[in-house]
Formats: sequence, structure tokens, C-alpha cells
Amino acid sequence: MQLLDGKLLSENIKAEIAAEVDLIRERGGKMPHLAAVLVGENPASEVYVKSKIKSCEQVGFKSTLVRRPADIPEGELLDIVQRLNDDPDVDGFIVQLPLPKHMDEEKITLAIDHRKDVDGFHPINFGRMAQGMPAFLPATPYGIVEILRRYNIETSGKHCVVVGRSNIVGTPISILLSRKGYPGDCTVTLTHSRTQDLAAEVRRADIVVAAIGIPEFIKGDWVKPGAVVIDVGINRIPDATKKSGARLVGDVDFEEVAPKCSHITPVPGGVGLMTVTALLLNTLKACKKEIYP
Ligand code: NAD
Repeated sequence: MQLLDGKLLSENIKAEIAAEVDLIRERGGKMPHLAAVLVGENPASEVYVKSKIKSCEQVGFKSTLVRRPADIPEGELLDIVQRLNDDPDVDGFIVQLPLPKHMDEEKITLAIDHRKDVDGFHPINFGRMAQGMPAFLPATPYGIVEILRRYNIETSGKHCVVVGRSNIVGTPISILLSRKGYPGDCTVTLTHSRTQDLAAEVRRADIVVAAIGIPEFIKGDWVKPGAVVIDVGINRIPDATKKSGARLVGDVDFEEVAPKCSHITPVPGGVGLMTVTALLLNTLKACKKEIYP
């Protein structure tokens, strides 16, 4: 079994990005600039946004954090989105989800200029991705595709079973892996909470992508020997042996599954770090106007 090391890959990709930023600086070009909007005080969102800002600093991007309390009116957030849309110095920006309950996430996502939508959540980017046109890919699926590419995992003709059909992970990764080209050309089965005999579906997989949100849900006897396992889940479970009283686990039972598979992403240290790195890749593309010239 080989670990698919998201930490190592992220470091390599960040070094590549930093080298490009140095070149841009030497040529007197405009520095890539990512803005993040954080509404309220959701602890997980705080961690994610901090990590995104820190990653920007590591590669030499300019970053801006716009913070607002949870009780701001939706109209004020829409104004912030419009200002960022109009700001020529901002190449791309994200509005960290989830938003407070009184806000309509769909309305906010639609208000973001798709040319600055480095999270890849806007339907224009999603539609372009589905048709194989240049698009900002959603960060987590983009990170997964980079893991497969950089570890030279064979995907052509392989049977991939995706567990979970969310708009940000399961559905887009099922589209990307079924598309023509590498990494892709898979035969994809997209499974979800209404799937009958999920274990039997997963057993047929050469590649498993687990994006469910239930700790250690995929068991050892669900996985075909030699399968490639991509664990997207990030779940906090109680652990009295840790100082914090908790630890992170994925959606895959790592202890049971790791000995059976050919490759597996650890949690932490797998897909999560690659998600942040994919956001940097999208921001660089936005700055270079690669997707929308
Ligand atoms: P979601 O809650 O939006 O979707 C979960 C999906 O799992 C749903 O489509 C549902 O049909 C399916 N599901 C639920 N119970 C099931 C069951 N019993 N059997 C089969 N399918 C079932 O979740 P999401 O946003 O896609 O996130 C999934 C997990 O990935 C979470 O742990 C989340 O924290 C993590 N996540 C990680 C990253 C990262 O960067 N690594 C990014 C996004 C999400």
C-alpha cells in the first residue's frame, strides 16, 4: 500500500506556484490577489479561511480577508460581493460556506462574477466543466484530480465508485473522472444515501472516492484488494488520548482499508491540503486570465 501524500504534493505545487510568482514579480507584473469573505464565527470556517490566507502568504500572493458578524443583512453581503467583482486588483475571491441561516447561499453564489469564482461553485463554471470547456474547477475535485495525476494513477477504463453526491465534491468529481482524457476515462458509478447495497457497489470499484461525512463509514470488507481509495471526509471524533480531546478521521476506516488497497489518502494529510492548494492554482489561473482571457 502506498500513501497518497497530500502534504508532500501540496508543498511541491506551492513551490511551483511560488516560482511563478517570483517570475511575475521580476517582470513587474501584477501579483495574484485572493480575497476571502468570512461571515460569522463558525469554528471550522475560521480554520479553513486561516489556512487559505496562510497558504497565500506562503506562495507570495496578496490576500484580503473581509470579516463580518453573523447578523449582517444579506444585502450587505451582496454589496461586498459586488465590490469584489468590481475591484480590478482582486483576481479571485471566495465566500466561505456555510453562511448564516438568514442568507440564501444560492443567491450569493450566483452574484459572484464567474470570472473571479475561484471556488468553482458558480453554475457557469460547473456547466463549462461538465462540457469539458476551460473552467475554474471546484477546489476539492481539482485537488483529487491532481493527486491522481501526480501519482500517475491509471484511470482509463477503470471503474470508479463515488460515494456522496454533493454539489461541491461527489457530483463534480464523478463528472471529471468520466470525461475524456487523463485523469478521466473512468466508468463512474455515483452512489448516495438512497443507493441499495452500497457495500456491493463499492466492492466493484477500482477507484473509490468517499465524500459522505460519516466517520470511518467505508469498511475493509467493502474494498476490492488493490483498489485506489480517495478519502475526502473530514470528521472530528472524541479521543481522550489527545490534548484537544478529539482527532480527525475520514469517511474510510483507515485501519481496515489501508492494508487491502494499493493507494490511499490519509486524513489528515490527504485531500484537505490539496483542496487549499487547488484554490491557489485557480487564483493563479485567474490572475493570468487563463480561463477567461
Ligand atoms: P454533504 O453532506 O453535502 O453530502 C454528503 C453526501 O453523502 C450526500 O450526497 C449523501 O447522499 C451521501 N450520504 C449520506 N449518508 C449516506 C449513506 N448512509 N450512504 C451513502 N451515501 C450517503 O457532504 P460534502 O460537502 O460532500 O462533504 C462530505 C465529507 O467531505 C465531509 O466529511 C466533509 O467535511 C468533507 N469535505 C472535505 C473537503 C476537503 O477539502 N477534504 C472538502 C469538502 C468536504
